[in-house]
Amino acid sequence: MFNKTKIPMGCRKYEARLEDYLQGTSDSELDEHLLQCAHCSAALENSRFAGDLVRQVWEPAVEPRPMFLAGVLAKIREEKLRAESPAAFWNPLEFLASRLAMTASVLLLALSIYLVGFAPQRAPVAQLPNRTELSASDFPQPPGDPDSNEEVLVSLSERQYGR
Ligand SMILES: [Zn+2]
Repeated sequence: MFNKTKIPMGCRKYEARLEDYLQGTSDSELDEHLLQCAHCSAALENSRFAGDLVRQVWEPAVEPRPMFLAGVLAKIREEKLRAESPAAFWNPLEFLASRLAMTASVLLLALSIYLVGFAPQRAPVAQLPNRTELSASDFPQPPGDPDSNEEVLVSLSERQYGR
Protein backbone atom coordinates (compact mmCIF):
# COMPACT_ATOMS: atom_id res chain seq x y z
CA MET A 1 0.00 0.00 0.00
CA PHE A 2 1.13 3.53 -0.64
CA ASN A 3 1.49 5.65 2.37
CA LYS A 4 0.85 9.33 1.95
CA THR A 5 3.60 10.21 4.40
CA LYS A 6 6.12 8.41 2.22
CA ILE A 7 5.72 10.13 -1.12
CA PRO A 8 8.71 9.42 -3.34
CA MET A 9 10.84 12.52 -3.76
CA GLY A 10 10.39 12.54 -7.51
CA CYS A 11 6.62 12.57 -7.10
CA ARG A 12 6.28 15.59 -4.84
CA LYS A 13 6.25 18.04 -7.69
CA TYR A 14 3.48 16.06 -9.36
CA GLU A 15 1.29 15.88 -6.33
CA ALA A 16 -0.18 19.35 -6.70
CA ARG A 17 -0.54 18.82 -10.46
CA LEU A 18 -2.62 15.70 -9.95
CA GLU A 19 -5.55 17.84 -8.87
CA ASP A 20 -5.41 19.99 -11.98
CA TYR A 21 -4.98 16.82 -14.01
CA LEU A 22 -8.17 15.46 -12.47
CA GLN A 23 -9.97 18.66 -13.43
CA GLY A 24 -9.00 17.93 -17.04
CA THR A 25 -5.83 19.97 -17.44
CA SER A 26 -3.58 18.16 -19.89
CA ASP A 27 -0.12 17.50 -18.55
CA SER A 28 2.06 15.42 -20.83
CA GLU A 29 4.86 15.31 -18.30
CA LEU A 30 2.51 13.94 -15.70
CA ASP A 31 1.07 11.50 -18.26
CA GLU A 32 4.50 10.10 -18.77
CA HIS A 33 5.26 9.99 -15.07
CA LEU A 34 1.99 8.21 -14.34
CA LEU A 35 3.00 5.41 -16.73
CA GLN A 36 6.14 4.74 -14.73
CA CYS A 37 5.06 5.60 -11.21
CA ALA A 38 2.74 3.28 -9.39
CA HIS A 39 2.43 5.72 -6.53
CA CYS A 40 1.11 8.56 -8.61
CA SER A 41 -1.16 6.44 -10.80
CA ALA A 42 -2.60 4.90 -7.66
CA ALA A 43 -3.03 8.34 -6.14
CA LEU A 44 -4.75 9.49 -9.30
CA GLU A 45 -7.04 6.49 -9.27
CA ASN A 46 -7.87 7.04 -5.65
CA SER A 47 -8.60 10.69 -6.23
CA ARG A 48 -10.71 9.87 -9.24
CA PHE A 49 -12.61 7.24 -7.31
CA ALA A 50 -13.05 9.50 -4.32
CA GLY A 51 -14.12 12.33 -6.59
CA ASP A 52 -16.68 10.11 -8.27
CA LEU A 53 -17.96 8.97 -4.94
CA VAL A 54 -18.26 12.51 -3.68
CA ARG A 55 -20.02 13.55 -6.84
CA GLN A 56 -22.38 10.59 -6.70
CA VAL A 57 -23.25 11.29 -3.10
CA TRP A 58 -23.53 15.05 -3.29
CA GLU A 59 -24.37 16.18 -6.74
CA PRO A 60 -27.83 14.70 -7.11
CA ALA A 61 -28.59 15.60 -3.52
CA VAL A 62 -27.22 19.08 -3.03
CA GLU A 63 -29.90 20.94 -4.92
CA PRO A 64 -33.17 19.09 -4.83
CA ARG A 65 -32.81 17.39 -1.49
CA PRO A 66 -32.83 20.28 1.00
CA MET A 67 -35.74 21.89 -0.78
CA PHE A 68 -37.58 18.63 -1.02
CA LEU A 69 -36.83 17.75 2.60
CA ALA A 70 -37.80 21.18 3.83
CA GLY A 71 -41.06 20.95 1.94
CA VAL A 72 -41.82 17.50 3.26
CA LEU A 73 -40.88 18.45 6.81
CA ALA A 74 -43.02 21.54 6.67
CA LYS A 75 -45.90 19.49 5.37
CA ILE A 76 -45.45 16.89 8.09
CA ARG A 77 -45.26 19.58 10.76
CA GLU A 78 -48.38 21.19 9.38
CA GLU A 79 -50.29 17.95 9.36
CA LYS A 80 -49.02 17.07 12.80
CA LEU A 81 -50.15 20.40 14.17
CA ARG A 82 -53.55 20.02 12.64
CA ALA A 83 -53.89 16.42 13.81
CA GLU A 84 -52.40 16.65 17.28
CA SER A 85 -53.76 19.92 18.52
CA PRO A 86 -57.38 20.67 17.86
CA ALA A 87 -56.52 23.79 19.82
CA ALA A 88 -55.18 25.20 16.58
CA PHE A 89 -58.78 25.64 15.63
CA TRP A 90 -59.25 27.89 18.62
CA ASN A 91 -56.35 30.17 17.85
CA PRO A 92 -58.47 32.89 16.28
CA LEU A 93 -60.78 32.77 19.28
CA GLU A 94 -57.83 32.96 21.64
CA PHE A 95 -56.65 35.99 19.76
CA LEU A 96 -60.08 37.53 20.07
CA ALA A 97 -60.16 36.68 23.77
CA SER A 98 -56.80 38.32 24.33
CA ARG A 99 -58.08 41.38 22.52
CA LEU A 100 -61.12 41.40 24.78
CA ALA A 101 -58.90 40.96 27.82
CA MET A 102 -56.86 43.92 26.68
CA THR A 103 -59.99 45.99 26.23
CA ALA A 104 -61.15 44.89 29.66
CA SER A 105 -57.87 45.90 31.28
CA VAL A 106 -58.00 49.27 29.55
CA LEU A 107 -61.53 49.66 30.89
CA LEU A 108 -60.35 48.66 34.34
CA LEU A 109 -57.58 51.24 34.20
CA ALA A 110 -60.04 53.89 33.06
CA LEU A 111 -62.41 52.84 35.79
CA SER A 112 -59.75 53.15 38.48
CA ILE A 113 -58.80 56.58 37.19
CA TYR A 114 -62.49 57.46 37.18
CA LEU A 115 -62.99 56.23 40.75
CA VAL A 116 -59.88 58.01 42.07
CA GLY A 117 -60.84 61.19 40.27
CA PHE A 118 -64.44 61.26 41.49
CA ALA A 119 -64.12 59.73 44.93
CA PRO A 120 -63.57 62.99 46.87
CA GLN A 121 -66.66 64.60 45.36
CA ARG A 122 -68.77 61.62 46.24
CA ALA A 123 -67.33 61.13 49.71
CA PRO A 124 -69.88 63.14 51.72
CA VAL A 125 -72.63 60.60 51.95
CA ALA A 126 -75.10 63.16 53.27
CA GLN A 127 -75.15 64.98 49.97
CA LEU A 128 -76.20 61.83 48.21
CA PRO A 129 -78.68 60.19 50.55
CA ASN A 130 -80.04 57.89 47.92
CA ARG A 131 -76.59 56.60 46.98
CA THR A 132 -74.96 55.31 50.14
CA GLU A 133 -73.57 52.35 48.33
CA LEU A 134 -72.01 51.90 44.96
CA SER A 135 -74.56 50.77 42.50
CA ALA A 136 -74.03 49.12 39.16
CA SER A 137 -74.65 52.41 37.38
CA ASP A 138 -71.56 53.89 39.02
CA PHE A 139 -69.42 51.63 36.89
CA PRO A 140 -69.08 51.58 33.17
CA GLN A 141 -71.01 48.67 31.80
CA PRO A 142 -68.93 45.52 31.20
CA PRO A 143 -67.73 45.02 27.67
CA GLY A 144 -70.66 44.28 25.45
CA ASP A 145 -70.06 45.14 21.86
CA PRO A 146 -67.11 47.22 20.70
CA ASP A 147 -69.26 50.27 20.06
CA SER A 148 -70.45 50.51 23.65
CA ASN A 149 -66.89 49.94 24.89
CA GLU A 150 -65.79 52.87 22.85
CA GLU A 151 -68.64 55.00 24.07
CA VAL A 152 -67.73 54.25 27.67
CA LEU A 153 -64.11 55.13 27.09
CA VAL A 154 -65.03 58.30 25.23
CA SER A 155 -67.44 59.38 27.93
CA LEU A 156 -64.85 58.58 30.58
CA SER A 157 -62.18 60.61 28.88
CA GLU A 158 -64.61 63.44 28.28
CA ARG A 159 -65.45 63.51 31.93
CA GLN A 160 -61.74 63.46 32.78
CA TYR A 161 -61.07 66.42 30.55
CA GLY A 162 -64.23 68.26 31.50
CA ARG A 163 -63.28 68.26 35.15
ZN1 LIG B 1 5.10 9.55 -8.94
